[in-house]
Parts: sequence; structure tokens; C-alpha cells
Amino acid sequence: MAIRILPDDLVNRIAAGEVVERPASVVKELVENALDAGATEITIDVADGGRTLIQVSDNGCGMTREDLEKSVLRHATSKLPTDDLLNISYMGFRGEALPSIASVSEMTIESNGLALARGEIKPSAWSGGTRVRVENLFQNVPARLKFLRSDRVELMAVMEVVRHLALARTDVGFTFGKMTFKPSDPLISRIREIVGADADGKMIEVAASDGDVRLTGFVSAPTLRRASSVDQYLFVNHRFVKDKLLVGSLRAAYFDVMKSREYPICCLYVEIPKEQVDVNVSPAKTDVHFLEPARIRNFIVGTIRRALAPMSAPGVRRDIGDAPVSRPWSMLQEFDLQSPAPQMPPQVLDMAAADSGGAISFPLGFARAQIGNKYVIAENSGGILIIDQHAAHERIVYEKLRKNEIKRQPLLIPIIVKLSPDQVSAVMEIKGELEESGLIIGEFGDSEIAVYETPADFELDWGACLADFANEARSYGHSSAVKERLHLKLANYACHHSVRAGQKLSLEQMNALLREIEATERGGQCNHGRPVWKTFSNDELDGMFERS
Ligand code: ADP
Ligand code: MG
Repeated sequence: MAIRILPDDLVNRIAAGEVVERPASVVKELVENALDAGATEITIDVADGGRTLIQVSDNGCGMTREDLEKSVLRHATSKLPTDDLLNISYMGFRGEALPSIASVSEMTIESNGLALARGEIKPSAWSGGTRVRVENLFQNVPARLKFLRSDRVELMAVMEVVRHLALARTDVGFTFGKMTFKPSDPLISRIREIVGADADGKMIEVAASDGDVRLTGFVSAPTLRRASSVDQYLFVNHRFVKDKLLVGSLRAAYFDVMKSREYPICCLYVEIPKEQVDVNVSPAKTDVHFLEPARIRNFIVGTIRRALAPMSAPGVRRDIGDAPVSRPWSMLQEFDLQSPAPQMPPQVLDMAAADSGGAISFPLGFARAQIGNKYVIAENSGGILIIDQHAAHERIVYEKLRKNEIKRQPLLIPIIVKLSPDQVSAVMEIKGELEESGLIIGEFGDSEIAVYETPADFELDWGACLADFANEARSYGHSSAVKERLHLKLANYACHHSVRAGQKLSLEQMNALLREIEATERGGQCNHGRPVWKTFSNDELDGMFERS
């Protein structure tokens, strides 16, 4: 086998296979070049899904005649002034895009009154920064052409790329057909434009730093979710990424308020010193390597969870945050609150201030009735609330488990639970975590488990519960998430199987439940992100009856 050195054109076409997969990747490379050139206005045009024409015009620094000639040479770049691959401050740096694109299309680059096409420079009337025109993409690569999808699908992929870039750089104006983003748009309005109007009032701002690492942006309230990760926009140093660590951190932050196939919406920016992150991992550069992955993960999970922790979703909070009502004494006596005063988080205490008449107002108001042994109807100064008693109970139990506030109750006679030998060993693996959840167990032969102590007030079918835990433990392995998953399961069990499910409640019990939710972190949504309560403000009620 004789070895041959491949000619440049072939090398370029091979490289194009990696860099230029479809029209959307051409758009990405060209727009990134415009951004690197300092453009503040970028216009993108495509025809036939990018198959016949892709054009990107910018008002950036442009190129001299000499640079124009060099720009289409392989590994020619102005972006690596030193040989330091860890010091990358531009979107591109491989010097591969233009030569690759040129090798699989008819490309014209115009800048400073000159046009370069097919290796020749001619005068041009273009007077902006740089304009790159890519015609008949893949015409000379039938194999590639065959793999392109319909024009519509290719166009959608281009739109996706433009959306990523528009979110990555809110300081830059983008025009792509009807899609326009002005440089002055605040981030939240770009997000709304991109993810849709259902995000209104449901995005929570995050902003935190950990030393020299910063996290900013918006995440959705748990009640706003998608069936796929399409609306998850993650950026590292203003570069769009699909990094596993970041996606995993996001999932971990929401794990107890969303089901496994539901995805929060987010637009998050990680800013981190260049030397602590390697973006030179893949040619598409959507993966990154962090120098300290564990630290980044903890920081992100912690920050998002803190942002989600306030007791309710925004919007709901507005309704219940109304000024305290004053009620006549007689009414308060009617709802005589026998339950001990709950420990309230500070924001709730503010709202529950005693007024001049000595009456107390609570954010979730006072219970008025129970419907179908499922829903509690309550009234506060702002309107009425409908509370899902089952979801509320589940959330309360879960938060108690999480905070280690559940008491243990020793059993006079241990419960013996029959399991398969596999299940027994799986359960014994998580014995420690079970203990922290208030469940003390021991091995009892190779196919039985003895339960010695249980969380107080949990009257459950421990056999079914332990079998379930065993399966859970086997599928998740012995990871740090086991404890939280156990808490979730336990809360779920406690609420579905306990005597309180579907139970008729007295007004006293209903009010006690309301006070308990108010005192519970993240009380506004149940463990699967479903709302715990809904409100109808007085204005909404008036509107319904055309009383405005
Ligand atoms: P890279 O972006 O990795 O440097 P490219 O092949 O994409 O490689 O571009 C090669 C060079 O051409 C760039 O380094 C830059 O100097 C120049 N260039 C490309 N596009 C533009 C543009 N829109 N404005 C100014 N210069 C550009
Ligand atoms: Mg480039």
C-alpha cells in the first residue's frame, strides 16, 4: 500500500465533512465569524432551506485584500495570535470553516469593496463589513446532498442556530426573515420571543457567583415545562453548549418537582475564566470540559434550587402577597386555629402580621369548604383559592423528610417483609439512606427483611414499599440521589396510601393544612411539579360575572 499525501482540496472536503454537516452548520460558522469580527448587526438570508443560497452580512471589522486571500486557506486564522489553545476568546479558532465551505459550494466573500470568488479578487459594490454568499451547497458532494432533509426541516435547523446565537449575544442585532432581534432587547423579551408567550411571568431570574464563576439567566417555574429539552438554552462564556454536566445539573435541580420526561425551560449563562474550561473538545464545540466539574455542578444545582425554593410559582405569589385583611373577631373564632403556630419562613411572617383589630391574615386565607374530599376552598383578601389537599400533603411530607423532621416510631413487633434475594441485597445496600428517612431495617434470612422502626404516622404497606425501594435502588445504583428518591417515594406512598387520602376534613383540619403548606418550602407545587393550589383573584371573579 503506497502512502500518498492528500491534495489540499481533498483535505478540505474531508474537513468539511466534520465542520459542514448541513446548511445550519454553515450559518453557524458564518455568523460566528461575524461575531468574532465585532459585528453589532447581522443579517442572514437563505433560499430553499439553504440548499441554493446562504448569505450572512455583517457590519464588523471587514478584511484587507491580503486577509481576504488568506481567509480561504486551510488553518489560516487571525484568532490564535499566540499558540495558547487554552486562551480562546473567539468563537472560532481552527481556521477551517471558510476553506471547508468553499470546497463544497460556490462561495463569494465581499469586504471593503472587493469580492473573492474561485480564488479571484474583483471589485465589488458591497459597502458593509463582510458579506459571505454560499451558493449550491454540496452540489459537488452527492453523498452529502442525499442526506439533507426537506427544505422545511433544513430551514428549521437554521432557525434553531439563529435562536441559539441570538440568545448567546443579546448585545447584537439579528435579522433573519421575519425573525428580528434588536440589540437593545432585554434578555427576557428575547427569551419570550423564542420560547413563546406561555413563559410570561413564569421565568425566574437567577444570578449568583462562586468565586470567579458566575451563573445568570432565567429558569422556568416548575409548573412550566416541555415534553423535550428544546427550550433549554445553555451557554458557557456566551457559547451555546449541550454539555452533559450542565444538562445533568439542571435535571438534578428539578428532580423533585418534575417527572423524568418533563423538561424545564431555561436560558442560563455560565461565565468562567477561560483557563478553567476547555472548549476545544469537538469541532462543533457544543461540549466543554470543566477543570472542576464537581464544583461547577454543585454551584449550578444549588443556585437553581435556591431560585425555585420560594413557596410558590410567580404569579401565584402575587395573589397571596396582598396586604393583610382585617377580619372581625367573630369570624376568626369561627375558624379557631387550634393547631400550634407553624414555623413560618420570613416572607410569610411579614404577610401574616397582626392588624389593628388583632385579627391575623394568612397568605392562603381561611378554609371555607371541601369539595369531593379532594379540594379545599379557601378565601383570602385577594380572592379565592382551590387547594389540592393530596398534593399539599405530599409536598409537606416530602419537605419534612428532606429536612429530617420526621420522627421515628419503634415497632413492638417487627414487621417481616418477604422479598426476593436480589431485592434483599438491594435494600440492604441502601440501609443507611433508609435509616435517615426514619426506617430501621435488618436482614432476616436471605429473602426477608425485618422492619424495626418506621417514620411516625406512616401507616403503609411496608412490604410493597420496600419492594419498590429495592427496584429503585437497583435501577439507580448507590448514588447520592438515592436518599432524595427515597424521600419522594415515601412522600408519595404516605399520601396515596395513608388514611388522609380522600378523607373528609373538618374546617379545623383544613386550616391546619393551609398553615402547614404556608410553612413549607416550595409549598406551591407538589413533588411532580403539579400545582398545589390555584387562585382566582377578586378581579378575575368580577370579570367572570362582568362586574368590572
Ligand atoms: P476561524 O474563524 O476559525 O479563524 P474561518 O475559516 O472561519 O476560521 O475564518 C478564517 C479567517 O477569516 C478568520 O480568522 C478571520 O480573520 C477572517 N474572517 C472570516 N469571516 C470574517 C468576517 N465576517 N469578518 C471579518 N473577518 C472574517
Ligand atoms: Mg470561523
